[in-house]
Amino acid sequence: MVRQGGCLCGAVRFQVEGEPYRTGLCHCADCRKESGSSFVYFAHWSRDAFSVTGDLKAYAGRSFCPHCGCRLFCLNEQDVEIRLGSLDEAPSRIFPQMEVWTKRREPWLHAFSGTGQYAEDPPKNS
Ligand SMILES: [Zn+2]
Ligand SMILES: [Zn+2]
Repeated sequence: MVRQGGCLCGAVRFQVEGEPYRTGLCHCADCRKESGSSFVYFAHWSRDAFSVTGDLKAYAGRSFCPHCGCRLFCLNEQDVEIRLGSLDEAPSRIFPQMEVWTKRREPWLHAFSGTGQYAEDPPKNS
């Protein structure tokens, strides 16, 4: 399975192959700020499953399109954490396995059933 994605203006395009190994929702302060929303919906793949074209800028490891400002992913040598709203197809059918920083979750949201619940960051190997 190959999923395509990109920014709002189309200057950055990416693709990722296979299913992610870790998925979740994050309510932390940084994710709220970067997205301008109440939480970020994310998933991790290994770096070699991922390819990207187009100019990128990054702030604190968080890559974005310098033309339209769209937030896309966090990239390092081993791993990519993609903001799943940047995928072209919706629904993506990627289900969150965990919810993190739930102590900052809005009171009108409730825990998604079947997800691990963590008040702050999850343990390293979960
Ligand atoms: Zn763009
Ligand atoms: Zn976060």
